[in-house]
Amino acid sequence: MNNTPSRAPGSRLDPYVDRYAARTAGMTASEIRALFSVASRPEVVSLAGGMPNISGLPLDVVGGAISDLVASQGPVAMQYGSGQGVPELREQITDVMRLEGIEAHPDDVVVTVGSQQAVDLVTRIFCDPGDVVICEAPSYVGALGVFKSYQCEVVHAEMDAAGLVPEALRQAIAATKAAGRTIKFLYTIPNFHNPAGVSLSAERRPEILEICRSEGILVLEDNPYGLLGFDGEPKRALRADESEGVIYLGSFSKTFAPGFRVGWALAPHSVREKLVLAQESATLCPPQFSQMAISAYLTKHDWQGQIKQFREMYRERRDAMVDALSDLMPASCRWNVPDGGFYVWMTLPPGVDAKGMLPRAVTARVAYVPGTAFFADGYGSSAMRLSYCYPTPERIREGVRRLAGVIEAELEL
Ligand code: PMP
Repeated sequence: MNNTPSRAPGSRLDPYVDRYAARTAGMTASEIRALFSVASRPEVVSLAGGMPNISGLPLDVVGGAISDLVASQGPVAMQYGSGQGVPELREQITDVMRLEGIEAHPDDVVVTVGSQQAVDLVTRIFCDPGDVVICEAPSYVGALGVFKSYQCEVVHAEMDAAGLVPEALRQAIAATKAAGRTIKFLYTIPNFHNPAGVSLSAERRPEILEICRSEGILVLEDNPYGLLGFDGEPKRALRADESEGVIYLGSFSKTFAPGFRVGWALAPHSVREKLVLAQESATLCPPQFSQMAISAYLTKHDWQGQIKQFREMYRERRDAMVDALSDLMPASCRWNVPDGGFYVWMTLPPGVDAKGMLPRAVTARVAYVPGTAFFADGYGSSAMRLSYCYPTPERIREGVRRLAGVIEAELEL
């Protein structure tokens, strides 16, 4: 008996291949996902993933808060809830954002399934196929995936050690407008950038806002790492100085735990209404149980003290990585020293291709993400992202030692 569908010619591998919507053409597995199974083998030192290290979380406190929640409010916590999110949590979210200079009303906060879903919802309500989103070069791979899946075109604007370069932004806007294309927003990660590891300088912040204001371009400020600066002083959010032209995204994934899948968007009033409609059609409501559990944790625990502990742990790992890079890497490699977040961006000597080298690195039992993952246009082959968030300082040094050996061997080829 023949089990293959007879209606469409399809292909032998995927009988549905000619029935998918055109937007699926942009949905490809990220290079990071492809690496995941290799990088998670115990003998491989993974400098690839961006998983937060939550081993220091007080599980007894979290567990206690959750069992109290079940005992006292179980039927509410396990019920459907508001499409905009739990009011108490939205109130607490405004306290979190106040640390970065943002004065906001809980009514303007929409809770999302991680900030990843916030990127998706914002793109869903603003972008038609062919619209342009301006992104830093490089940019967060997960956001690039969202933009592609809505058939947007990404135009990159250069960064340097002080973050997005204002002149590069001006040029990207001018060239895109001259080509008759519609720019929907600037997607930017001002703090402890993923993957570049740099932050937008205080001097440039008003300039970037002014450019976007005068060009009529909305800013999508994605800030999951903002409270993980190693000097402990949160940088002032772009949203703190511009409430109408900025949609701000936050997340509990890096300051608490990603498994709850809770993030948020703070948006101008009218945009917020559209986001809630989009959220309702996507999920009916964000997970009520997760939101109430986080709310209980924030109420019962010294969450700011916990973030301080996370910062100290990540700083120690950052130090381990940059010390190892200085001691072990060939002199022709270049990297930045991040002052927060999870990532170092390293540029390789001319002629060394990070993507081509990856199988040899994995054979040498070390993994990283090639720079090409973070560009929509094929750039980045001479760079890589190195994460220091997850492995111990000893493993980080060992990983860098292995990687240096692989790069040296490439230089001898
Ligand atoms: N934005 C950036 C820049 C990120 O690095 C990440 C996670 N790696 C996210 C958004 C998504 O995070 P989450 O959905 O867990 O909040």
